[in-house]
Amino acid sequence: MASEHATVLVVAEHRGGKLSAATAEAIAAAQQLAAPWQAAVHAVLLEGAAESGLAAQLARYQLAGVLAARHPALAEYTPEAYTQALQEIVSRRQPRAVLFAHSYQTRDFAPRLATRMARALFGDLTALRVEDGRLTVSRPMFQGRLAADLVVPGEAPAFLSVQIGAFRADRAALAAAPAPIAAEMVAPAAPAAAPEAPFQEAKQAVDLTQAAIIVSAGRGIKEAKNLDLIRALADALGGEVAASRPICDSGWLPMDRQVGSSGQTVAPKLYLAVGISGAIQHLVGMKSSRAIVAINKDREAPIFEIADYGVVGDLFEVVPALIEAVKAAKAGG
Ligand SMILES: Cc1cc2nc3c(=O)[nH]c(=O)nc-3n(C[C@H](O)[C@H](O)[C@H](O)COP(=O)(O)OP(=O)(O)OC[C@H]3O[C@@H](n4cnc5c(N)ncnc54)[C@H](O)[C@@H]3O)c2cc1C
Repeated sequence: MASEHATVLVVAEHRGGKLSAATAEAIAAAQQLAAPWQAAVHAVLLEGAAESGLAAQLARYQLAGVLAARHPALAEYTPEAYTQALQEIVSRRQPRAVLFAHSYQTRDFAPRLATRMARALFGDLTALRVEDGRLTVSRPMFQGRLAADLVVPGEAPAFLSVQIGAFRADRAALAAAPAPIAAEMVAPAAPAAAPEAPFQEAKQAVDLTQAAIIVSAGRGIKEAKNLDLIRALADALGGEVAASRPICDSGWLPMDRQVGSSGQTVAPKLYLAVGISGAIQHLVGMKSSRAIVAINKDREAPIFEIADYGVVGDLFEVVPALIEAVKAAKAGG
């Protein structure tokens, strides 16, 4: 290490032999944070005793190194083994900050890790910066009504988790030559209990956080059967169907299709909000989308304040016309 606290660690997340997409977002955040500190970013991969190939995938990013920390107890995620292994690594490396994606898994073990190390976890962050030499972070509060800027107090390391979609995975800088990989055995104690089945965010359906195009329905759709219109538009565009909370509360779509503060946080390339008013609890779940198109008959609907393109009109007229236009465009090559 170049000097004390000149390291930023970013913890990779994986399941079923694949890195999560949010890992690249966390790497992008770590790279951004490390720049003003001139700190070296190292990715940490926790895996079972066998080499999984994931370290090589991480090495594609512009990193000072990839630390593959191995132990049979890490083959399956458990909060105890992850906490102990990371405590060992963080104690040894003395980084300035440890970054995670704000996933269910992170929420499960990272507060415990931070507490063990007499720190707090600053979670669900939407921005990170160094201001007057002080680490300053932003996070939503009160269901997204406020964005709070917080100065992270105390000694390093800072434990930080970044909101899904707040940092773009495609902004994670790639390396010209693969980053060096160091394998290291860690010694977490055997977990007290056998690992439970991994938490399933969306068991039977898609992970909306991965979708490039989302067509989302709100109460303007009026009846469950009218969702066929949304499905047809999503099919035409090659996208996924999502919804505001009242649609899922009514059982018209499964809960894992809900976008918002009590649903999923998504950041697709294209988000179509159809008959959605734009309540703050919905906006916090989709405002990082790259292009937002709103279709709403009320020109005063708050969704238009964040929409890149707005159509003021009756969705039952606009959506069929849009489906035809998309099909015609595809047929035209
Ligand atoms: C603690 C808490 C957590 C919450 N979490 C979430 C969450 O995760 N996700 C979420 O979405 N909400 C959440 N909510 C609910 C949120 O406050 C709103 O009630 C909800 O988002 C509104 O959904 P909507 O926009 O579909 O419905 P509405 O607000 O009823 O809006 C319907 C819109 O459809 C338009 N419309 C009607 N007919 C047509 C038509 N024919 N053509 C075009 N437009 C039409 C209307 O003009 C209106 O703007 C939460 C609330 C609380 C209190």
